[in-house]
Amino acid sequence: PGEQLPHDPSLPTVVVLGNGWGSTAFLKDLDNTGYNVVVISPRNYFLFTPLLPSVTVGTLSSRSILEPTRFLTRHLKRKTEVYEGEVYEVDPEKKTVRFIDNSEIKGAVSGTEIPYDYLVYAVGAENQTFGIKGVNENACFLKEVWDAEKIRTRIMDCIEAANFAGQPQSEIDRLLSFVVVGGGPTGVEYAGELHDFLKEDLGNWYPELADKINITLIEALPSVLPMFSKQLIDYTMDSFKENKIDIATKTMVKEVKEKVVVAQNEKKEIVEYPYGLLVWATGNTARQVTRDLMSRLSSTQNSRRGLLVDEHMRLIGADGIFAMGDCTATNYAPTAQVASQQGKYLARVMSKLHKKDQLLKELEQAKQAGAEPAKLDSLANAVIRASNIAPFHYSHQGSLAYIGSDKAIADLPVFSGNLAAAGLATYYFWRSAYISQLFSLRNRVLVATDWLKTKVLGRDVSRA
Ligand code: FAD
Ligand code: NAD
Repeated sequence: PGEQLPHDPSLPTVVVLGNGWGSTAFLKDLDNTGYNVVVISPRNYFLFTPLLPSVTVGTLSSRSILEPTRFLTRHLKRKTEVYEGEVYEVDPEKKTVRFIDNSEIKGAVSGTEIPYDYLVYAVGAENQTFGIKGVNENACFLKEVWDAEKIRTRIMDCIEAANFAGQPQSEIDRLLSFVVVGGGPTGVEYAGELHDFLKEDLGNWYPELADKINITLIEALPSVLPMFSKQLIDYTMDSFKENKIDIATKTMVKEVKEKVVVAQNEKKEIVEYPYGLLVWATGNTARQVTRDLMSRLSSTQNSRRGLLVDEHMRLIGADGIFAMGDCTATNYAPTAQVASQQGKYLARVMSKLHKKDQLLKELEQAKQAGAEPAKLDSLANAVIRASNIAPFHYSHQGSLAYIGSDKAIADLPVFSGNLAAAGLATYYFWRSAYISQLFSLRNRVLVATDWLKTKVLGRDVSRA
């Protein structure tokens, strides 16, 4: 990258919270000539979530789907600050954010406050548990890279414990029961990956145990993947049946005990599912910092789902704050596709705002210099044009999911209809779509190499 422009105190400051899908798309497209930009996030990298389920069984290595945020910001025109910190308070009146270093190693300063002129709020969401007893204590989630690593270790821990000398049969059966709660795409993709690990690797290394492994997916609704078309839902259910993945639909988990999931089936009977490893994937809920911001703006922010924004992604009831992605409550699904389009859109909005500010300054100077009325009219019209910012428009590119056994499903909008595709060809399409969406060449090479390594050498069964 070439020489970057330095920090300029005369320019407005844009503080960006988070470096997930929304913020990363924003930073990638941003022309920050007219702004000082500060990025704050508790992790210093972007995570490519669509490939996270593959990390749980070692199909991919976690580092292959991470991209340090500095790799991106060093390409921006003006020098950008990136702080690893967790924001715990946004004051929309004072226009400040407070954040802390919540990592293990701290320096003399581990908390501070900074002001913003514009805030790009994209902190995502946290795991929904519906307050169900025992979930936080006993289940693994699948949202962050450390979640996937934890699952990978626990899978092998269950297998080694089941293999322990003299283990009674009832314990072997429990330890080899892998339960997934939530039949959304996260739960389905994880179950598919787990099945591949079982079929392609564990059978070779633990032949006496592999047949006893049991995968169960529990879903409260009548079917899994409600966002996909009926034929793809049926295809997934059939494929899971073939792969001996049990699906318990119309079954609502009520409590999670240390070794047993307690659920209620459609006949209102209590059913118990003993487990060795439980993965909980029942969607999103607002983070504490978002809930606090909503309560500060309680007269306008009254949705329990997240932040309310207008059609330009401006936070309702606040000045200078834009919000996007999973932290917002909109008509769009909480997906990477939506967040990244919103990020790109906000990058364009910031350019327009900069242009408008420049034109306003020019108009002011022209007035003071006593410019001709025609010149003033033309500048005033340019300000109006620059102020005219089109609302955000979402363009759905389709939905894709991996379901195991080299099969993927895809709902793709074609012309004015919908194309539902499934199977091996869709799997190659899924792979090529994700490889092309990875932000850097480095990630593309790493992911392609991991896929090749898995194919040729198999997955590693070390409990590292
Ligand atoms: P995120 O990407 O979650 O980013 C939030 C950012 O905020 C993170 O950098 C986080 O560290 C940071 N942050 C958190 N708390 C704070 C704080 N207090 N202060 C500052 N920063 C903070 N969507 C798809 O469209 N296709 C898929 O195939 C797909 N697969 C997925 C697979 C999995 C396993 C998961 C979990 C999700 C998947 N999604 C997929 C959904 C997608 O990842 C989310 O919709 C997307 O990440 C939302 O983007 P975001 O920018 O709003 O939030
Ligand atoms: P989700 O909200 O899509 O699905 C959660 C599921 O859990 C729901 O079907 C719900 O009925 C079920 N559930 C809730 N409480 C339950 C209970 N007590 N017992 C049993 N079942 C219960 O969540 P997700 O799969 O984590 O996805 C979150 C978002 O990320 C979604 O918008 C999704 O589209 C997106 N995502 C997309 C992909 C993809 O496109 N391939 C992959 C992963 C995630």
